[in-house]
This record gives sequence, C-alpha cells and structure tokens, in this order.
Amino acid sequence: MEPTLGDLPPEEFRRLAREVADWMATYLEEIDGQRVYPDALEPGDVRRALAGPPPEEPEEMDEILADFRREVVPGLTHWNHPAFFGFFAISASGPGILGEMLAAALNVNALVWRGSPAATELEELTLDWLRSMLGLPEVFDGTINDTASTSTLYALAAARERAYPEVGRQGLFGQPPGRVYASEQAHSSVEKAVMALGLGRNGYRAVATDDDFRMDPEALRQAMEEDVAAGIRPMAVVPTLGTTSTTALDPVDRVVEVACAYDAWVHVDAAYGGPAALLPELRSHFQGWERADSIVVNPHKWLFTPVDCSVLYCQEPETLVRAFSLVPAYLRTPEGDRVKNLMDYGVALGRRFRSLKLWFILRAFGRTGLAARIRHHIHLARHLAEWIDVEPGWERMAPVPLGLVVFRYAPEGTDEAERDELNRALIEAANASGELFVGPTELGGHVVIRLSVGNIKTTEEHLSRAWRVLREEAAKLFEG
Ligand SMILES: *Cc1c(COP(=O)(O)O)cnc(C)c1O
Repeated sequence: MEPTLGDLPPEEFRRLAREVADWMATYLEEIDGQRVYPDALEPGDVRRALAGPPPEEPEEMDEILADFRREVVPGLTHWNHPAFFGFFAISASGPGILGEMLAAALNVNALVWRGSPAATELEELTLDWLRSMLGLPEVFDGTINDTASTSTLYALAAARERAYPEVGRQGLFGQPPGRVYASEQAHSSVEKAVMALGLGRNGYRAVATDDDFRMDPEALRQAMEEDVAAGIRPMAVVPTLGTTSTTALDPVDRVVEVACAYDAWVHVDAAYGGPAALLPELRSHFQGWERADSIVVNPHKWLFTPVDCSVLYCQEPETLVRAFSLVPAYLRTPEGDRVKNLMDYGVALGRRFRSLKLWFILRAFGRTGLAARIRHHIHLARHLAEWIDVEPGWERMAPVPLGLVVFRYAPEGTDEAERDELNRALIEAANASGELFVGPTELGGHVVIRLSVGNIKTTEEHLSRAWRVLREEAAKLFEG
C-alpha cells in the first residue's frame, strides 16, 4: 500500500489533542498520589521495555500514547510533583503549559524580526515587564536563551569582546592571559563557559567565601591585584545571587566596586535567586546588581515557567552583538537596524517562541501573585529549618535566605566518615520511598542534604510529610 501523504487528519488531531489535554489535567490533578521517583528502576530498564526495530510502517497514535503512559511515565522523575525537592524545585504552571502548547502549534522561528514579528516584539515587551518587576533600570536589554549555562557563556563572550577588542578577528593568540573570578560556591557553568571561550581552566579563579558561603570581596580584591601584577588581564567577575549549594547571596554592591577598579565585566548569576527580587522585603539583598554589566535570571527555575527559559539582561547589548553578529546574504532583511534580530545575540540562529509562556505567566499571576508564591516557599523553607533546629541528632548546615534548606543527620556517637555514609544512604532511602525527592551536596567536605522548596503546588503538608519520612528512614538506617 502507498503511504498516505500529509499530516494527521484535522479531525483526528482534534480528538487526540482533547484527549492529551485531558490527560495533562488529570496528571496535574492527581500527581500528588504518584511516586516522585521511579520504583526500583535500574539503568537500561526503560530502554529495554521500548526496544525493537525502528518503525517501518505507520502506527496508530492511540497505541503510541498508550506506550507513553505505560512505559515512559513510570520511568520519569516527576519534577512537577509537589514533593520534588531535588536540585532546584521548579514548576510548569498552568499558564506556562498553555503557552508551551501554543508555541508548539505555531512553530514560528524568530531568527530575524520578519521571521516572526510578534514573537520578536513579545520577547522584548515581556522582558521589559520582567525587568521592571525585578526593579532593574531600563538600560538592561533582555533576550531569552535555553539555559543559564548558555546565558552565562554569552555574557562572558561579551566580557571577552570588551577585554580583547581584537578577539573577533584574531582570536586570543598572542594575547596576555585573561581571567574570570567567581566564588568557591559558584555554579560549574561559569567555569565551563571559561573553558568554552578559550581561556583554559587557568582562566578561572575561585574566590574564598565567608562563614555564610558568600564571596569575600577583600579576597577578590587581593586575587585581582595579584593577577594584574603577574600580567593577567581580569576579564570578568561573576557574583552569584542564590548559590547552588546554599542559596548564599554574594555582596554584589561591594563586588561591583572591586571589579570596577580593574575594569572587569560584572555578570550576576541570579539564575535561581533572581525572582526573589520581586519581593520588596528582599530587595536589599540585590543591592548593586543594577550596576552589573549583565544578569542571568531563569524563569524556568523559580518563576513557574516550563523548561526551558533563561533570560540574559545586558547593559551593553551592542557588545554582545559584536561578539555574535555575522550576517550572511540569505539572512539580510530590509528592516536592518530598525528592528531586533534575535540571531545577533548568541550562537543559536533559530529560536523557539519562549516568550509566549512567560507572557502568559506574568499576566495570569501578576507581580503580586508571583511574589506571594515565592514568599510562601521561603516561609516553608524557614519552617523546615526551625523543625531541624530543635530536632536532636540533626544539624542545619547553612543559613536559609531563600527556598533551600541544607542539613544532615548527625546522631550522637557517630564520626564524620559515618555521618557522610549515613547521609548518602539516607538520600537513597528517602528517594526510594517514592514520597519525596532530595539530593546531596558537599559543604566543608561533609555530605549534606539539599531540600529545595520551589514547586507551585507544595504546601506545608508536603513538607511535614517529607520531614517525617526523612526521620523515619534515618532511624531505620541508624538502628538497622
Ligand atoms: C541552575 C543554575 C545554573 C544552571 O542553570 P541551567 O539553566 O540549567 O543552565 C547556573 N547558575 C545557578 C546559580 C543555578 O542555580
């Protein structure tokens, strides 16, 4: 039989789309009763269950969807579960999911303005709104990337462009070595960007932190002074607002002062913590970020936006464009400089219509609605911190400025090595229970548990259940 051409017939698409929308609504409604982490799953299990020759003949969508429900869903770690507390807890909110669905149906690609005028202009408008909600001045020009890792890479490419004006033509060959500074608690994406930009890992220097894991500006100054004396060019400083291990907030105002004395670009990594600037009572933590050259904020982390959506704000968009603009004949358009051509702001040519979901979210929740949800998460995290602080045998390992609690089980009579072992085993046992999902980090050489509160549906009940399961599993491990 000759295969039929064209797409799914419209009536079939309509029926399936309704079915899928129904499935999604039920999933979101009933996810609370599901396991967070798969049950007794070994690497390779999912793949084996779905293996077989590649499909030669067309299959029914109903059958494919049945396999999705039967084999794929049970093999997922459910990030949208209100008891997901691992990595940084995130949410695909209703408005965000609707925006993502529509973006897929439209499938526009705003590489240049005429590639999709409304997609380009909605991105500009939405990011202006977000900038204003965050209390940042109008000089910051925003673009959306897939992840903070990409946003930071682009920001540091702009920093490299400023520090080495000839880099676009000559590369770094024969140039004095450059260096990027971030705290010992900075995210690995900063060092990765330094590697990708051709500075080598020697181009990265980790700066000491204080007792609360915040960058020490005096240590930064000494490091920069030492490097300059050795003929190294300080290219950029990357303070973090909300570090990954403890959500520490570096003193950005003082870091900016130091960086400015050495003409270094300042890129603020607020991938996680940025949305907390929506809360007037937390604004003081952000003091000085308005003087940064660039800032990354991830709506897909703490702004209820489905992955992926990372925003890069830049005070000198022309430097970013100089780092990335290269326009071949087939991409030239008569609008020229009168419009924003998003392809000029990074490596990627094509780009998904990511602003649609963010526009929906900003409108559907408003600043007050978003702030109230973030505030609630911070309250919940502080509750847990209080529970831990009064529980014998447990230790909180860092302050809780935002929505993350870092702690460990440290029963009396155990030594450090036993505690590391216990906490590693505890994380495994807690996740295997299916009731919650948490992960580890290391602080001062000790294994500790990170519990991140950030899902839009998380309540105090989820948190108290998680705390109960952790204590029960800990007792079993210790006594068993
Ligand atoms: C999560 C995180 C990143 C990396 O984010 P991606 O969008 O996954 O690349 C970078 N920096 C900080 C501080 C983070 O919390």
